[in-house]
Amino acid sequence: MKFNELKISEDLLSGIDAFNFETMTEIQAKSIPVALSGKDLLACSQTGSGKTAAFLIPVMEKISGLSGDGIKSLIICPTREICMQTEEQVSGLGYFTGTSCIAIYGGNDQDGFSRQKAALTNGVDVVVATPGRLISHLSLGYVKTEDLKFLVLDEADEMLDMGFYDDIINIISYLPHKRQTLMFSATMPDAIRKLASKILYQPEILDLNFSKPAEEIDQKVYLVYEKDKASILANILYSYKGQRIIIFAGTKINVSKVSSHLRMIGIKNTAINSSFSQQERNEKMLDFKNGKTDIVVTTNLLARGIDIDDVNLIVNYDIPDKAEDYVHRI
Ligand code: AMP
Repeated sequence: MKFNELKISEDLLSGIDAFNFETMTEIQAKSIPVALSGKDLLACSQTGSGKTAAFLIPVMEKISGLSGDGIKSLIICPTREICMQTEEQVSGLGYFTGTSCIAIYGGNDQDGFSRQKAALTNGVDVVVATPGRLISHLSLGYVKTEDLKFLVLDEADEMLDMGFYDDIINIISYLPHKRQTLMFSATMPDAIRKLASKILYQPEILDLNFSKPAEEIDQKVYLVYEKDKASILANILYSYKGQRIIIFAGTKINVSKVSSHLRMIGIKNTAINSSFSQQERNEKMLDFKNGKTDIVVTTNLLARGIDIDDVNLIVNYDIPDKAEDYVHRI
């Protein structure tokens, strides 16, 4: 199904066109009509399946005709990186509709907090937020939620894994009961169904059962002793010289160890984990996206929702605890 078959505004179609999106992905074709019809939705959809546009397009279409100057829609997501990427997509899709958007996440300076406070006080069409920082603002009492019509939970299973259940329930206690809620999750464990039954009203459920690796990915396994891992990794990296690579380690300590070892033997790389300030993380990600850095060593922090073109090799230096994490990483 093509986007121009949807009953949405010309301005929004122009935004979609500017992204060169023509045909909908499966999750988009299935969820956009449901969301446009006004129903709540629980959709199971993998990272990289086009789910951001799957919820942004109906939400942006539906808020464009709304009156009131408060916040119209809230998107909650697990990490700052996903938050920023979603904000960028709202800005792109909303270029011709004039949709206003702010990303609310922690780790920035006082100026950032004041800017967020101003937007939350004056009202904005779309708020994209990580739970912790949003709660800080909500608890200070100035956030204008009374006009809110749409709530989206993105990567809901990841948020539960990160321990955000109570925060999500707390955030929802500040929102109007009468609203449309869309929930996107990569997997559908019991905890997700339970949360859905608590916060969704007669939802449509779409389970695209995506939790397996994309077929075109070539997968290899090396059975090695722990002590040999580093040198085998170095050999593999030499054969991918100049190509874009992400190496996943299990812990921040292992990220540092792998990164320093590689640097010691002359393989340039950059380490990214949650201990770095947001600004450092942003700069490192930008260097990777722009091709200034070829190799990133990281934790599961970058396993989900991160959209980088032309990555040639993913190394699971440490095997992830959960099969889903492996699927997300690769
Ligand atoms: P997401 O799952 O939302 O992170 O999207 C993954 C990637 O697919 C992003 O680079 C999007 O820009 C791209 N994308 C999303 N929808 C479409 C579409 N209908 N046609 C082509 N690319 C798309």
